[in-house]
Amino acid sequence: MRIFSKSLRDPETITLADRRFDVSVNRMKRARRLTLRLDTHGSKVRISAPETVEAELIASFLERNRPWLEQQLASRPDLDVIRDGSMIPLRGQETQIVIDASANQIELDDARDGLRLRLPKRGEPILRLQRFLITEARRDLTARAERISGELGRSFRSLHVRDTKTRWGSCSSRGGLNFSWRLIFAEDRVREYVVAHEVAHLRHMDHSPAFWAQCKALCPPDLDIDWAKQQLRDHGKRWHAMVFDGSVP
Ligand SMILES: [Zn+2]
Repeated sequence: MRIFSKSLRDPETITLADRRFDVSVNRMKRARRLTLRLDTHGSKVRISAPETVEAELIASFLERNRPWLEQQLASRPDLDVIRDGSMIPLRGQETQIVIDASANQIELDDARDGLRLRLPKRGEPILRLQRFLITEARRDLTARAERISGELGRSFRSLHVRDTKTRWGSCSSRGGLNFSWRLIFAEDRVREYVVAHEVAHLRHMDHSPAFWAQCKALCPPDLDIDWAKQQLRDHGKRWHAMVFDGSVP
């Protein structure tokens, strides 16, 4: 009989290069040995393990592979760990992050030498910044979706912002809209296009000419859809590379 005690839990996090990573352990009947990988976005360490292997063994396996994981991270120069002094493109405008002991809440300053977002020092300012950005994204995208779906005369069922990796937005057949919160880094007109695109799917669930005609009709007349798509291609990598200090997206 196997006795499980609380002290023998699978590892849940590991700190690598000053960042905390979630560890997910997948125990599989058919796995014959321990394997590990850093997921494509570099945000999670995934371990596959045989079903019966002890948690302690998994922990020591993880420790043994720490140098390899650190090396994997170092070979991804595109990660941009946001900290005091970092620049982020807030609504497409380069904005400097400043941690400021005198700030009581997150404040946007339009200083002569550029935009600054001042964060209170207490607690975890960068995690707080990420929550702020997600909230801003949700508010902005919801307002656009309500306005544009009103023009279309179809309502959406729900709207969620997530940290999607491959798509900026999606629309389910039941009318649920999903967006990446990282669209807050795009210029307003790019978000306008992405929302118009997903709202147009409330009527056409395909990418037929009728869909594109609808999408175009929902965009402002002077919005160049090809330009908006190109913005997503040109800047998407940077938006995804931003990591908010120890927080795992
Ligand atoms: Zn689409």
